[in-house]
Amino acid sequence: MVVLAVGAHPDDLESACGGTLAKYSRLGNKVFMVHASNGNVGHRVIPPEELAAIRAEEARKAGALIGAEVIYLGGRDLYVRSEDMELRNKLVDIIRYSKPDIIITHNPDDYMDDHNETSKLVFEASMAATVTHLHTDHEFYGKLTPIYYMEKVAGINSSPTEFVDISEDIETKLKMLSQHESQLKWAKEHDNIDFLETARVFSRFRGYQCNVAYAEGFTYCMQFHKMPVKRYLP
Ligand SMILES: [Zn+2]
Repeated sequence: MVVLAVGAHPDDLESACGGTLAKYSRLGNKVFMVHASNGNVGHRVIPPEELAAIRAEEARKAGALIGAEVIYLGGRDLYVRSEDMELRNKLVDIIRYSKPDIIITHNPDDYMDDHNETSKLVFEASMAATVTHLHTDHEFYGKLTPIYYMEKVAGINSSPTEFVDISEDIETKLKMLSQHESQLKWAKEHDNIDFLETARVFSRFRGYQCNVAYAEGFTYCMQFHKMPVKRYLP
């Protein structure tokens, strides 16, 4: 199987579905990790250009831990917008290039616009990728792909309907997250959050709900031709 995961900022995928991506990879599936923005304003001190380079390297290292192909979509922090046709078409081309069986992204009703707009971009692009007369570098992909939504940040107003047992992958998830050193520091200073502890506790909580040690939760996008007819999650 091919799995395409699209997050707004480098570290969103690691936080919300890092265990699931690690598991997919461990089971022999191909994983693509796309970051819509470069996360260039997520720090108090480091200037945007420098930070973008640091975060690209952090994202590369995190993806490398599970052998994922990491792709930067081209957006800027706080400026990811679904009306941006350049971004939309780049994502169309990534879908055509990767030919996913499943796409994972944010819930369209999350805590900030970059997340919501990334979700909308994915929704639009997954349809547009199947349209023959929309030309990008790669040939059209004639399959509408099921879309799964990760949990909203901190699980607020989130009620997952699908669970993935990540008990064997929790340490890899935390190791992936640890690569985002600039963000661990920023989250601590900006919001007094310990990223690693939060990820472990939350995964443990979802695990408690479905009777395993650690889990991640998802919902799927209920739209025409996007509903899964089988279990795609690992
Ligand atoms: Zn984010």
